[in-house]
Amino acid sequence: LVDKKLYFSCQMNINSITNQIKIPHELKKMNELFEKAGFEAYLVGGAVRDMILQKEETDWDLATNATPEQVMSIFHRVIPTGIAHGTVTVLFMNRQIEVTTYRTESDYSDGRHPDKVEYSKNIDEDLSRRDFTMNAIAANLATGCIKDPFDGCTDIKNKIIRTVGNAIDRFSEDGLRPVRAIRFSAQLGFEIEKNTLEAISNPSVMQKTSGISIERFRDELIKMLKADKPSEGFKLMEKTHMLSQFLPELQNCRNVIQSDKRGFHEFDVFDHLVYAADGAPKEDLTVRLAALLHDIGKPAAKRTEQTSDGEIITFYNHETLSAEIAGKILTRLKFPNNIVNSVCHLVKQHMFFYESSWTDAAVRRFIARVQLENLDQLFALRVADVYGMHNVPVRLHDSETGKNLCELKKRIEKVLKKSTALSIKDLAVNGNDLMTSGIPAGKTMGKILTQLLEAVMEDPEQNTKEKLTEIALNLYKKFYTK
Ligand code: ATP
Ligand code: MG
Repeated sequence: LVDKKLYFSCQMNINSITNQIKIPHELKKMNELFEKAGFEAYLVGGAVRDMILQKEETDWDLATNATPEQVMSIFHRVIPTGIAHGTVTVLFMNRQIEVTTYRTESDYSDGRHPDKVEYSKNIDEDLSRRDFTMNAIAANLATGCIKDPFDGCTDIKNKIIRTVGNAIDRFSEDGLRPVRAIRFSAQLGFEIEKNTLEAISNPSVMQKTSGISIERFRDELIKMLKADKPSEGFKLMEKTHMLSQFLPELQNCRNVIQSDKRGFHEFDVFDHLVYAADGAPKEDLTVRLAALLHDIGKPAAKRTEQTSDGEIITFYNHETLSAEIAGKILTRLKFPNNIVNSVCHLVKQHMFFYESSWTDAAVRRFIARVQLENLDQLFALRVADVYGMHNVPVRLHDSETGKNLCELKKRIEKVLKKSTALSIKDLAVNGNDLMTSGIPAGKTMGKILTQLLEAVMEDPEQNTKEKLTEIALNLYKKFYTK
């Protein structure tokens, strides 16, 4: 399949890169059981790469010459998670370890699954079917010595992503690999080697990539959004033309200029969005997605207006359009409904501008609109939005944005202490009470309850049964009876 330079890296001398890693005791114990049954097993893939990088350990993947059925007979608790591909999950000493039988397969003609899985007898062949040199390193479970036939350690040291073998060939086998290359680049801060990068835009590779299932793309996108700087990944996707295949709406934001002489914006909408994603908390996927998509409706909303001071650029109501487009994108990418809804809500609400002159009623209306449980995420989105204006972090204590949000938070706390109702269910009367007082059920009832909530938000003192019944009857008589 590929040129194989097989040697034990135990015998190699790679500057400052270890040729041996420390094997966790759970894996040593597993190894004893494999050996006792007459098999071998290696730690492979991301775990080895991340240990060499001295990163926090991730999931453990083992490769073995035992078949899945044999693995199931060696260990007591085994889940056949991907048995068609030779993978089972072993539950061992409170860990879940993916164990895959050595494989040779290389033909992924539908861009999704290998046509047929062929088992191999040796680890070297198994390593040669892996995607990148940094992922094609195996560690001996007894000694921790590493086997590195494609010089992956050197590439890790130099922070390089390079396919095992010819890039066009390897990408043509499996269209997910180009997406993984870009995701790894953003996640690890590695550069994609020149030939590997160029191969991503090769027409037949691009065709293969466009055939991957949307769920596989989405899962890579999610991993990329957890990187320190997802913007790096989106820029690479743009450069390799991958973005217009999967996220054409984001690509359309390139060169949508938003700076006029008022000077709010330094970047076009594309750069603003990807930097905003960088500025959102990396552990909060919802806010990262909201940041990435919060202005996605701007290309369609853009207008230029002549004012007495000259030409200005406007994007009226872009938040509504952005929320709609964000909904379409996330639904197409098959994100779960709760994420779609939360992201759309944040995008829709992102254009609030708090000023000290807001009345308590205005603060209460703001809370009612956003809903208490979303406030922290909406504020995080604002911080991300401001970050994305100049691609610089927002100082929470002494920047205008930080001070403004801090004041709003204090106002919210204060208002919540004396608020009696922020939604219809908090009112001192309900539909049944009002029906007893003679107001018919139906549309009118809904409208009256909404008006009662507005009245209580203006003045929380009104939230008593007597007062609300009185207001409701007055409204009914005045507006809803002929
Ligand atoms: P992470 O878990 O951080 O996503 P990883 O490298 O462990 O990174 P996995 O998807 O868990 O990635 O895959 C484990 C290993 O399987 C990889 O390191 C690589 O050796 C191999 N692998 C995964 N996907 C592919 C692929 N599409 N083509 C070839 N080899 C692959
Ligand atoms: Mg992994």
